Amino acid sequence: MKQVDIVVVGGSAAGIPAAITARRHYPEKSILLIRKEKQVLIPCGIPYIFGTVGAPENDLIPDGVLQANNIELIVDEAKDLNPKEKKITLASGESVTYEKLVLATGSFSCIPPIPGIDKKNVYPIKKDVQHLQNLLNTLNDSKDLVILGCGFIGVEFADECKKNRDINVTIVEMLNQCLQIAFGEEACKCCQEVEDYLAEKGINVITGVSLTEVLGDDKVTGVKLSNGQEIKADSLIVGIGVRPNVVLAEKAGLAVGKGGIVVDTTMRTSDPNIFACGDCTSKFSFFTGQPSGLRLASIATTEARIAGANLYEISRKNPGVVGVFSTALGNLTVAMAGMSAKGAKECGFDVVTGEAEAADRHPGGMPGMSKMWVRLVFNRVNGELVGGAVRGGPSAGELINTISAFIQTRMRANDIATFQIGTHPAVTASPIAYQLVNAAEMALKNVNG
Ligand SMILES: Cc1cc2nc3c(=O)[nH]c(=O)nc-3n(C[C@H](O)[C@H](O)[C@H](O)COP(=O)(O)OP(=O)(O)OC[C@H]3O[C@@H](n4cnc5c(N)ncnc54)[C@H](O)[C@@H]3O)c2cc1C
Repeated sequence: MKQVDIVVVGGSAAGIPAAITARRHYPEKSILLIRKEKQVLIPCGIPYIFGTVGAPENDLIPDGVLQANNIELIVDEAKDLNPKEKKITLASGESVTYEKLVLATGSFSCIPPIPGIDKKNVYPIKKDVQHLQNLLNTLNDSKDLVILGCGFIGVEFADECKKNRDINVTIVEMLNQCLQIAFGEEACKCCQEVEDYLAEKGINVITGVSLTEVLGDDKVTGVKLSNGQEIKADSLIVGIGVRPNVVLAEKAGLAVGKGGIVVDTTMRTSDPNIFACGDCTSKFSFFTGQPSGLRLASIATTEARIAGANLYEISRKNPGVVGVFSTALGNLTVAMAGMSAKGAKECGFDVVTGEAEAADRHPGGMPGMSKMWVRLVFNRVNGELVGGAVRGGPSAGELINTISAFIQTRMRANDIATFQIGTHPAVTASPIAYQLVNAAEMALKNVNG
């Protein structure tokens, strides 16, 4: 039987930073990471396998990061967990004991109960190299691809699959607009631009209908929609969300709820020596404290850094999920942090918004310039920032992270209108037209409007 101080089960967005953080905080401890797959995909890079990066092996997390941090790796499946004996049994039959354990077992893709969904050439998105290689082979022979779901994953897959491939791509979305869950209806400026971009690329987006049946004998030949329409398809990608992988935790008798493994704000499970983080855990909203269904790599890594630091001494707390997303299609980046005005109102907040648009370089003729639009959403009662949306070029990706920092530090419109910025013609908007500052000023103006 192997004896280790700290064991982490799971080797992806949550498991790796949990192990590295444990190494940084507890340098004297032995650390073992157990994961079941030989090669780990960069999960957020999966859509790019089908276009920009070209193959699953170009989208892998190198194991060197574990070696560099003196973290031992075992590639095997953890089959059983006995919290009383602090023991994990692996599929190979080997056992490992621990002082502290981190579960980072992730999630499974959702497969909706649609008749015919089990036909050949129907692909849920699995984080598995061979599965994605099979999908790549199928797509390379495919003429008519249908994608179910027009969230971030659906639009990224559509754009990438269309690149360098003679293929008809159709996205089917139940809601009225693509990306609607993330942005809320009032930020539909972003959603509309994404739909315009997809249309320009020849991608057909059908919204407001659901997919009711997968047609064909053995293989998919088409799909039927709730409006009766039938669409030809020789491949179907299902990108509609995930459910937490709680198999090991449930077997071990840990508290598990609808949202995943139950954890407190220190990321500790119902067993004080077992922590959990990432897609497998329950989450709550930063704003309301209510359960949150968001599952993102950025959330997983944050939770992992809390769990890894807290193993022997509690020093970090999880403030809850803010929810920060971004996606890029060509030169268009759309991004969102926190609540949309609509979402905030639904949660009972009285809100006021401000918007600003300007070039993200100055003068506007500088190379690489994109027009950048920012909307900020404030709580009218206490003035705190509760959300923001950005549409622009590549610079929007980091601006949304600034907005997230403002939200987490509960900055008010007046603080943002006067915050000290660094600007340069080649890399930022002008200090006069700086969108964040001006959107806050507009919100202050709108308070009384
Ligand atoms: C196509 C796609 C694109 C995405 N894009 C983004 C994005 O742009 N930005 C973003 O923030 N998020 C994105 N996400 C979400 C993100 O991928 C997940 O939130 C993230 O992968 C969660 O990480 P995790 O480590 O918790 O779980 P997972 O990535 O699911 O990893 C779980 C790990 O646990 C291992 N494991 C499970 N059970 C066992 C066991 N019993 N024994 C041993 N090992 C086990 C697995 O093998 C794996 O290594 C995307 C997801 C997909 C599918």
